[in-house]
Amino acid sequence: MKLQPVLPGQLPVLLGELRRHYGAPQFPPARGAFQLVLWENACYLLPDERRAQVFEGLRAQVGLSAEAIWKAPKELLLPLAKLGGMRPETRVFRWQESARITLTQFDGDLEQILAWPHPKAMKALKLFPTIGDPGAAKILLLCGMAAGLPLESNGLRVLTRIGYGRVHLKNYGAMYHSVQEAIAPELPEGATALAEAHVLLREHGKSLCKTSGPACGECPVAGNCKFAA
Ligand code: SF4
Repeated sequence: MKLQPVLPGQLPVLLGELRRHYGAPQFPPARGAFQLVLWENACYLLPDERRAQVFEGLRAQVGLSAEAIWKAPKELLLPLAKLGGMRPETRVFRWQESARITLTQFDGDLEQILAWPHPKAMKALKLFPTIGDPGAAKILLLCGMAAGLPLESNGLRVLTRIGYGRVHLKNYGAMYHSVQEAIAPELPEGATALAEAHVLLREHGKSLCKTSGPACGECPVAGNCKFAA
C-alpha cells in the first residue's frame, strides 16, 4: 500500500510536536557499547521497566563489565535472567557469549570500536547475539556515532502511518529502506538530535500509535497523518 507523501520538511515539525507531548526523551541507563549490548539482551517481550530491573540487577549483583559477566556463576545470573521473561537459559548464554566475544576479540574493551569508522564498528557489533543492522546502528547512535536514524518496529510503524515510505506487509526490509529514503532529506543533524528522534518515535508507537487501535483522537500529530486522514 502506498500512502500519499507527506509535505516536504514535515519531519522536524512532527518531532517537535512529539517532544512537546512526551517531554524530554528518556534514554536507557546503559552507558557505552558493551552495556548497550547487555541492555538489548536484558529481556524478551517485556516492558522497559522490566528491562531496567534486570539491567540494574546485573549492575548491583554481578557488575556490568565483560569480565564480571564472564566470571559470574550461572546460579547468580539465572534468577536475573528469569526476571527478563521466557527462555532465561538462552539469555544467560547470550550475556556470557557477549562477555566472551568482548574478552577474546576486543581485548576486554568493546568501547574501542567507538573510535573506528562507522561501517567497521557496525560489523563489530553484529558479532554479538541478537544485534542486527538496526540494533547496531542504534547502539552506535546512543554512543554518539551518528549515521542516519535507525528505527525499530514502533518508529517505523509511526512513520509509515504518517506517510513516509511504502507499507510492505510481507517485506520488512523493503519497507524499512523506503522509509529511510523518504526521511533522509529531513533528518535532524547530530547524534543527540537523532537519538532523541529515535526515542520519541518509539515512545509514540508504544503509547498512542499502537499496532492495533491507534489512539488518533489523542495524537499530537494527527493533523499531519495520512492514516488518520
Ligand atoms: S494520527 Fe493515529 S495513526 Fe497517525 S501517528 Fe497519530 S496515532 Fe498514529
